[in-house]
Amino acid sequence: MSKRAGRSDGRWKKQRAKLVKQVQAAGTPCPLCGEAFVFDDWRSPLYPHMDHIIPLSQLAPGDPRRQESLNTRLVHAECNRKRGNRIRAGYDQPNLTEW
Ligand SMILES: [Zn+2]
Repeated sequence: MSKRAGRSDGRWKKQRAKLVKQVQAAGTPCPLCGEAFVFDDWRSPLYPHMDHIIPLSQLAPGDPRRQESLNTRLVHAECNRKRGNRIRAGYDQPNLTEW
């Protein structure tokens, strides 16, 4: 187990657990590629990773969307890796409440 600075705090973990539950219950696929997640094998490229919908670098310090609960989703480990830190233009409408 390795802990990476910044993402090992309890809030981040809690939010991830919440998203995993929601996505498992609803059967939501990865928003980047449309394929289903693999939840029980952390080595799988289809394992869910938590991702910021809007990069924090794009949000002002006081922006309410900096909260994890408003600005996170699950994507595949592999999709997250491929996407890297590239900014997705036009992706500015998080629809998390529609789950
Ligand atoms: Zn994917």
